[in-house]
Amino acid sequence: MVKQRSALDSIPAYKQGAMPSTSDVVKLSSNENPFPPLASVRAAVAEELERIHLYPSMAAPELTSRVATLQGVEPENIVFGAGSVEVATQLVQASAGQGDEVMFAWRSFEAYPIIAIGAGATPVQVPLTADERHDLDAMVDAITDRTAIIFVCNPNNPTGATLTHAEVRAFITRVPSDVLVVIDEAYEHFNRDAETAIGIDLYREFPNVAVLHTFSKAYGLAGLRIGYAVAQADVAANLRKVSVPFAVSALAQTAALASLDAEAELGERIDDIVSERARVTEELRAQGWNVGESQANFVWLRLGDDTELIDAALTRSGVLARAFPGEGIRITIGSPEANRRALAALAGVRQEATR
Ligand SMILES: *Cc1c(COP(=O)(O)O)cnc(C)c1O
Repeated sequence: MVKQRSALDSIPAYKQGAMPSTSDVVKLSSNENPFPPLASVRAAVAEELERIHLYPSMAAPELTSRVATLQGVEPENIVFGAGSVEVATQLVQASAGQGDEVMFAWRSFEAYPIIAIGAGATPVQVPLTADERHDLDAMVDAITDRTAIIFVCNPNNPTGATLTHAEVRAFITRVPSDVLVVIDEAYEHFNRDAETAIGIDLYREFPNVAVLHTFSKAYGLAGLRIGYAVAQADVAANLRKVSVPFAVSALAQTAALASLDAEAELGERIDDIVSERARVTEELRAQGWNVGESQANFVWLRLGDDTELIDAALTRSGVLARAFPGEGIRITIGSPEANRRALAALAGVRQEATR
């Protein structure tokens, strides 16, 4: 047996949402965008295919300047990665090593513990409140001399709950100024909560804040892998040092630029998903499920011990959702037809239960 780091024994393998084995299955397990790529994005990527024998530009100057303008920051404050998961990895690697603590709410995004342990650091998971939100007071209490970086996921994956600007602002004022607070806004485009925390505003106010954005969800580019951080210049420079060289392909950069050119068209799709979310939530409540308010492109059913049974029933009906055994099921908002299938399957489960 070759030498391997024993810390990896405690890494839970990242579980990809179930993949459909037949065409009669709807996949609502990975928070993917149900719409196919825009024609304009496809055309831009097709043109870029002519150059895949070349390495991409690591600085991604055009996209960087475009995003910097959009966010009202300097290009030096923007760092791209192969998905925001890669940028989150860079943030942890730049901030925390052996003996340092990486804090986040739990349950939250399942990549956080993997990234923390991968960096040799110690994950610190602070349980959500009963209403599925970050327990910011408990997170403050859990801060130690070892705390190096804190993730705040808003809206939270998988519960869809948001935090208000006032709450997150008050939280940051209680975090030591040498601890980096990362606000992960992977689902920001679906968030219609008027009171919600705005990461970029907090970044402008507090030098120890960084913000994570992705093109995977609202922009529908999950398969091309591109996301970015907004961070202070010194932090951003360190993120570039620990990044995998050439990880962000020219295809991804091109698709991101073409998507920014198509914001109006994408915005309509996002609006459609948001109204489907309202419809699905309402219907689930009418069926009698305990479903909270989600501001993301998924809904969350807190099912406790019934989780595995209900997930099995969904799978039998050809609906693949994301189950967290003993906790609940996250169901992505898909096409109206896919949502109809999910709702019908869940209605069937309820009927069986009352029989
Ligand atoms: C999906 C998701 C991401 C984005 O992942 P990519 O690597 O950009 O595809 C980041 N954070 C959270 C909380 C997510 O759910």
